[in-house]
Amino acid sequence: MNLKSLTLSRLGYSEYRPLQEKAIDALCAGQDVLLAAPTGGGKSLVYQSAGLIRQGVAVIVSPLLSLMSQQVDELTKKGIRAKFLNSTLNPGEQDDLIWALRHEHIDLLYISPEKLVQPSVIGFLHSFDISLFAIDEAHCISQWGSFFRPEYSQLGQLKDSFPDVPIIALTGTVDKDTINTIQTSLKLKDCQVLRSSFDRSNIKIHIAQKRKAKQQVLYFLHHEVPGQTGIIYCRSRKKTEEIADWLSQLGLPSLCYHAAMTEEDKRANHHTFTHQPGTIMVATTAYGMGIDIAHVRFVVHIDLPNNTESYFQEIGRAGRDGKPAKALLLYGLQDITQAQQLAAMQPFSADKELENMGKFFRVLESRGCRRQNLLAHFDERLPACDNCDRCLSNRSEQNVTIASQKLLSLIYHTKGVQPFSLLIQILLGKKTKSVLAANAETSPLFAKGKELTEVQWKAIIRHLIAFDYITLGTISAFTVHINEKSRSVLKGNTQIIIPNEQYYPTLHEDDLEIGSVSWHKVLAWKYSHGKNTLSENQLRLICRHKPKSIASLSRLTGLPKDHVVDFADTLLKIVHEMDSLEVSP
Ligand code: ADP
Ligand code: ZN
Repeated sequence: MNLKSLTLSRLGYSEYRPLQEKAIDALCAGQDVLLAAPTGGGKSLVYQSAGLIRQGVAVIVSPLLSLMSQQVDELTKKGIRAKFLNSTLNPGEQDDLIWALRHEHIDLLYISPEKLVQPSVIGFLHSFDISLFAIDEAHCISQWGSFFRPEYSQLGQLKDSFPDVPIIALTGTVDKDTINTIQTSLKLKDCQVLRSSFDRSNIKIHIAQKRKAKQQVLYFLHHEVPGQTGIIYCRSRKKTEEIADWLSQLGLPSLCYHAAMTEEDKRANHHTFTHQPGTIMVATTAYGMGIDIAHVRFVVHIDLPNNTESYFQEIGRAGRDGKPAKALLLYGLQDITQAQQLAAMQPFSADKELENMGKFFRVLESRGCRRQNLLAHFDERLPACDNCDRCLSNRSEQNVTIASQKLLSLIYHTKGVQPFSLLIQILLGKKTKSVLAANAETSPLFAKGKELTEVQWKAIIRHLIAFDYITLGTISAFTVHINEKSRSVLKGNTQIIIPNEQYYPTLHEDDLEIGSVSWHKVLAWKYSHGKNTLSENQLRLICRHKPKSIASLSRLTGLPKDHVVDFADTLLKIVHEMDSLEVSP
């Protein structure tokens, strides 16, 4: 067996993935590598293997302390000599570690970027042989990403201090700008850039018009992912708390997670989420990096993520085990205008943020397969996926050029100072208070857009904003402008074709009960206890008839008594929970 295969089996694997092997070969030949692969793509094995094969200590820089200590523990269990240099070591431990490093008793050394860039540490690294540097989560280098970590920008000095040590930068991002920034900041030489497909074909992507978002989420939870584990992303901390409370009251086991919680609460909620199947985590983007839980079955976005990368990273937390998973994004016209306004108000990097947001809107509003549109953003070309809302529907589209002309002329006539909701009311010919107040029923365009529904009008506006046929003002929430591109539509030189839109269905809270039993609790129980022999139909019968004994449970389900006996107690308790509440004073 050669050294490479030997190392592979030491690490507990039987085969390298093709890209892993390429990266390892390049590193072993002393070449710098930039490896872009989605989370779960097996990046760690690359620096671990190459670090073991090459002479000296591999220094691995990662921003996540928890991930480093986890890796060190796992490696130690496999008998690999890995250590973690961090500030929690006492002086004695540090001395031991230094001794071990100098005497070649350590192969892999994990270190945080903050620690590494300390001048004393850089000096210390010169006192032993280094096989390679691995910079994990290297996109933290990019100021423009959402993951910026200032210490990362100082990592360029590694190349200056250790010109002969190969560096591997690893990232789960494929954004071209970020990749270029990583290469320049780390001063990578003749760098071998390797990237794997970022497609996660097991995740069904559904993007839909928002209306009564909470009820839509309920529909999704109830009809598409009953009893399953998943994450719901919201923008605000307050909203995560509200939604988690609301879902818990409805019998859906939910927790929240956001940056303002205490470390202890965060840890506790993360722990429950990881270990209690069927739990829903309602979180801000603070729940993110480094979260690798195999059984997350769905990710819902109740608010619009900031950009395509964030969206893609976030939905990627579902289906890590490769089994089918679902992603639902709900958004509407209001989310687009609000997001744009918010970004425009940011004092720093507003231009870049607006640009990224604009790109994201175009991904969302593009025609055709969602996955194709999303991955095209990452320069990947794919065939249509058969696993997104567009591919799974009849993909009907409509030419809305005339409607767009009506809207654009209305914007022109109203001098762009009216909110879109009012423009839609005018086009639909609704004599609402605000229409009357604006004296708009006299407008030549009043009631000239009745051929379309409100949801269609909103879809048109979103499309026109996304593709820059309308420019949103950044000063007041309501100002919009027409521009050169819209003039071309008005003249009939440009056709506007958009996909047909529908609202995602809603489910009312009251529909969550069967015979006053919380259907969700029953489903959560079924899935979390692996009671897959009981069908949903049998469970519905149980909720409706509420058997009280093992005998009646057995009669109702047609299952033998000795079979039902091992779950009867817990199930009947859930089924009769409400009754006991009702009789209590
Ligand atoms: P990343 O760092 O890219 O997010 P990881 O290194 O954590 O990915 O690997 C993700 C999962 O894939 C881990 O569970 C790991 O054990 C598994 N894995 C990686 N490489 C291989 C391989 N060659 N064969 C089998 N499983 C692998
Ligand atoms: Zn598709």
